[in-house]
Amino acid sequence: MKAWAVVRNRAPLECIQIADPEPTGSEVVLEVTHCGVCHSDLHFWEGEYDLGGGKVLKLTERGVTLPRAMGHEVVGRVLKFGSEAEGVAVGNLRVVFPWLGCGRCSRCLAGEDNICATPSSIGVMRHGGYAERVMVPHPRYLVDPGTVDPALAATYACSGITVYSAIRKAMPLPPDAPVVLIGAGGLGLAAIAMLRALGHRTIVSLDISAEKRDAALAQGATAVVDSAAPDAMARLMEATGGPVLAAIDFVNSGDTARLGFEALAKGGKLVLVGIMGGEMPLSLASMIFKPRSILGSATGSPQDLREVMALAQSGRLPHIPITRMKRDRANEALHMLHEGRVTGRIVLEA
Ligand SMILES: [Zn+2]
Ligand SMILES: [Zn+2]
Repeated sequence: MKAWAVVRNRAPLECIQIADPEPTGSEVVLEVTHCGVCHSDLHFWEGEYDLGGGKVLKLTERGVTLPRAMGHEVVGRVLKFGSEAEGVAVGNLRVVFPWLGCGRCSRCLAGEDNICATPSSIGVMRHGGYAERVMVPHPRYLVDPGTVDPALAATYACSGITVYSAIRKAMPLPPDAPVVLIGAGGLGLAAIAMLRALGHRTIVSLDISAEKRDAALAQGATAVVDSAAPDAMARLMEATGGPVLAAIDFVNSGDTARLGFEALAKGGKLVLVGIMGGEMPLSLASMIFKPRSILGSATGSPQDLREVMALAQSGRLPHIPITRMKRDRANEALHMLHEGRVTGRIVLEA
């Protein structure tokens, strides 16, 4: 089959031939119909993440090999499956849960595949949706998009469950308790929409860009604050009415995490989601005098995907803007994202 693969980091994607996946046992092969082009694809293409303090995580050190077809926001039609795959039929349209683990450890068996110690993510450790077909190890990683536009449903496999899982970690909170969201890019806006859909009424969004703060207000934020302002914390406290129980940082740099952490009340939680990178000094004794939690959140679980799809199905999630492009323009799509020329999401179509 054809794949639009990363052959060398930072070099253009190449259309190459890779072996057709042949399913055995519980495996299912889907004909890819849609695949979102995600910001983390750019990190993969560059081959590294900034860990702060001058440290860099190279994907090759985590066992990633090239060439690799990226793409972890995949929707496709079931093409064939092994003899042990139950509950699927040829032609079924399904969203793929991409954040696979080993499939055997206690985390995976508990349905928390996304925090397995040996990740095997689709589009990262194995070939993803920038290809004609994709293989999943088990039907439990497939979710029916129902009447949801498949291009939109594809994005829920990454941004949708990432936001949902982060919100779940910050919960439970009464509907009127203020929730602070740092960053009003794609994830930040999706979080506003999802909190609204879940019944939360006081959402304060921070961003350094006036344009993005306007977008946050349009999406349903109750107040916005310029996170670059010298008195950002005072303005935030004015908007929230005091320290808060939940802040979610979709940027996650040293500056933003500090702001989110300092906004917390006793018992408050800061959930880190972004991968901007950096460091934050932590006063250890103050963690006792004023107990707070900092939680890292990495994507979400198969159950999160099922719940996000149910929420989308109910019609309570607003749509993000989708730009549709043919799959053979994958390179161009990646470049548009690299240059910051994309509003919403580019979704590659077969
Ligand atoms: Zn993604
Ligand atoms: Zn595992």
